[in-house]
Amino acid sequence: MSSAGKIEHAVIVGVGLIGGSLGRSLRNRSGVARITGVGRSVANLDEAVNLGIIDSYTNDVKSAVSDADFVLVATPVLQMPEVLQAVGEGARSDVVITDVGSVKGHIVDIANDALGDLKNRFVAGHPIAGTEHSGAGASFEALFENREVILTPTPTTDADALSVVEAVWRDSGANLVTMDVETHDRILSATSHMPHILAYALVDHLARQPDSGQHFDLAAGGFYDFTRIASSDPMMWRDVCLTNKAAMISSLKAFSYDLNSVIDAIQREDGHSLYDLFTRSKVARDRALFGRRKG
Ligand code: NAP
Repeated sequence: MSSAGKIEHAVIVGVGLIGGSLGRSLRNRSGVARITGVGRSVANLDEAVNLGIIDSYTNDVKSAVSDADFVLVATPVLQMPEVLQAVGEGARSDVVITDVGSVKGHIVDIANDALGDLKNRFVAGHPIAGTEHSGAGASFEALFENREVILTPTPTTDADALSVVEAVWRDSGANLVTMDVETHDRILSATSHMPHILAYALVDHLARQPDSGQHFDLAAGGFYDFTRIASSDPMMWRDVCLTNKAAMISSLKAFSYDLNSVIDAIQREDGHSLYDLFTRSKVARDRALFGRRKG
């Protein structure tokens, strides 16, 4: 039996797409018998019960975690300080706490402040998996299969807590990657956070054109492929921008510089530069996709 098999009572704070998907895996793959949900909207929590993700629910984090041995925090990032504070006040000393937030430096900092004596029981994590949909109804058990999950333990993280969190993610089918928070926030600002901002900005740019209806009517599949993620939850991405500010500004400025170079090349009618850029880009993308499919 894996270390995850030691979990008797799991609490999920935020039973949405990510929390609900890991909840399904905790139930069906890690064999956790009892799962309690914590959230604000009764409709979402009722749906999570009906889908068999959680057994019961409450809106009180502190009481929910009092006899939990595993706590998953899967709310939007700016909701986490209050949630972690309540976990720190209510949980047992041997609890294992983890999160799935899309930024890591900010969350590790607030966990250190909010969790008090339990801070070494916290293992920060980020699954590189998701969809543009939200809520328990959008969750599915296979979401993490063959996807990377980044863990950012610190030198003081308890080894047994880390091994439980690793086992939970392995049970879900994920591939584990460990890195420090700065590396996580820098790389993810470029590969995940910036594409979402570009998609939102592009759709908003077109929506504000006087003849925006005609723009959208005539948009091809490529436009909808490129902008699928602009249908994601605005609150989630607002929180990511506000909590990974320095890395995002750096990524966006570097990209903006490169975009200006493309404008210049078009202006100069520099077909060689444009062809070289598009070829480099196609090769890099095809190679990255092929590598993922093989993996
Ligand atoms: P989601 O589907 O909207 O789920 C978030 C859940 O948190 C909702 O069910 C919401 O329900 C609940 N919630 C919000 N505030 C709360 C609070 N104060 N206390 C308790 N529950 C609260 O969002 P998600 O996509 O699963 O994202 C959750 C986290 O995963 C975020 O931190 C995000 O950065 C991270 N993440 C997302 C993706 C992705 O692609 N979506 C990928 C990787 C990581 P109520 O509003 O009813 O309370």
